Amino acid sequence: MAGKVWLVGAGPGDVGLMTLKGREVLSQAEVVVYDALVGDGVLGLIPENAKLIFAGKRSGNHFLRQEETNRVLLEEALAGKRVVRLKGGDPFVFGRGGEELELLVEHGVPFEIVPGVTSAFAVPAYNGIPVTHRDFCSSVHIITGHRRADHSYDIDFDALVHTRGTLIFLMGIAALPDLMNGLLAAGMDPELPAAVLERGTTSKQRRVSATVGTLERVCSETMIQTPAIIVVGKVCGLADTFGWAEKRPLAGVRVLVTRPRELVSTLADMLREKGAEVLELPAIRTVPVKDMTNVDAAIERLSGGGYDWLVFTSPSGVSIFFDRLLALHDLRALGGVKLAAIGQGTQKALLKYGLRADFLPSVYDGETLGRELREACAPGSRVLIPRAAIGNRELIEELEKGQNLTITDVATYDTEYTTSNVIDERGEIEQGEIDFAVFTSASTVRGFAAAVKDVDFTKVNAVCIGRQTAAEAQKRGMRTWISEKATLESLVRRLEEAARELKDER
Ligand code: SAH
Repeated sequence: MAGKVWLVGAGPGDVGLMTLKGREVLSQAEVVVYDALVGDGVLGLIPENAKLIFAGKRSGNHFLRQEETNRVLLEEALAGKRVVRLKGGDPFVFGRGGEELELLVEHGVPFEIVPGVTSAFAVPAYNGIPVTHRDFCSSVHIITGHRRADHSYDIDFDALVHTRGTLIFLMGIAALPDLMNGLLAAGMDPELPAAVLERGTTSKQRRVSATVGTLERVCSETMIQTPAIIVVGKVCGLADTFGWAEKRPLAGVRVLVTRPRELVSTLADMLREKGAEVLELPAIRTVPVKDMTNVDAAIERLSGGGYDWLVFTSPSGVSIFFDRLLALHDLRALGGVKLAAIGQGTQKALLKYGLRADFLPSVYDGETLGRELREACAPGSRVLIPRAAIGNRELIEELEKGQNLTITDVATYDTEYTTSNVIDERGEIEQGEIDFAVFTSASTVRGFAAAVKDVDFTKVNAVCIGRQTAAEAQKRGMRTWISEKATLESLVRRLEEAARELKDER
């Protein structure tokens, strides 16, 4: 059976600018053919098991020629796969989307187009430039600055000058002098505002404002990096008034968030809301232990009233334990057991089962939980702790100091480390592309370290929840900041402070 190809626009960089339909289609993809212009945030959404084919041009890397890309799409679809061709911006705006469809049509392969937010409009918007404005222009034009094989341009400069509309040049940086000279020769006012907008909608967004007459000189002084667009028109003058993206508290900050793959990323959303560019790399994965004998025995004892306290140290710990309990019994197996949770995230996981923790420590870490719970327990209490196979030692040590407590520490899950197969975390750190890494547990630090191997950890600025997490990061030489409280809000606040500190230092 023939598969299908979806030509999907990934938007200009910011993952929030990908369409809902694009996201949905991507989540179902079996093969993903992607370009260099696709933002890292979007790459992070590619399903773990999808086959990845890089078709873009990134210096030094192998890349596919257009005909090869066309052929790959055809072959994968004929093999019955759900193929997503992921392209920067909109697939039909200078994206060669049309060319990629021809072969599919020839072979009767079904396809769909999922339009994207084009950089031509989104990048000006992120710079406070409305591409049209009734007071200044009545049209907007998107033009390629790409030269033809014979080095000439296919641009009617006279016509462009006559329209008096906003002009947006894509792929025009190398041609910038020719483009401005072409406009001037056709009679354009050299005083007309113009701007170059670099790496728009990402944390590296930058704007160079000038006029048609001075843009070339100003740009040669500022080392423009691609991708970038050129905007010509009176509307460019509005950027200083309407510029908003750079005013967000975490604008310009690129953050790596490592988290267990299963957890929804509230943290990433909170950081994005403050303007950060977030790379989510699921560095650890929790998997239930293969041999459930000990877990089942503990559940049997629990249902017979064999424990006074049931202690949880992570949200995954809660869901894995209750999945098993509910496979064997129902919630009545809990009887009157008291519940303890290490923090709010774990408490929330309990609430999903209609349960509220009887006990939360004043500081959300293993040591405090052990010390305070030991004082809250009646002498002789029997305590069950279903948790990770390599769990925190201090929790047990502290509990053992209690009066006559019987402690049962049962491994319910293992922690596995995973790495991203699309994003080169290591390279990004070495090149200083990551401003901060955020860690919510010691195991995420270990997962990250396993993923990037022997990277120079002194280049990593780590913002951590809790002392144990920070200790794990410091052990490897990272520079660390610790959140005041063990909540995500407090963590984000600490990151804002750290970002200000770094800015002052630079
Ligand atoms: N289909 C894409 C355009 C592909 S042509 C779209 O709709 O956006 C590639 C050109 O797009 C680049 O040379 C650059 O001019 C522009 N571009 C793409 N992403 C950009 C970004 N984030 N910031 C600035 N320009 C970008």
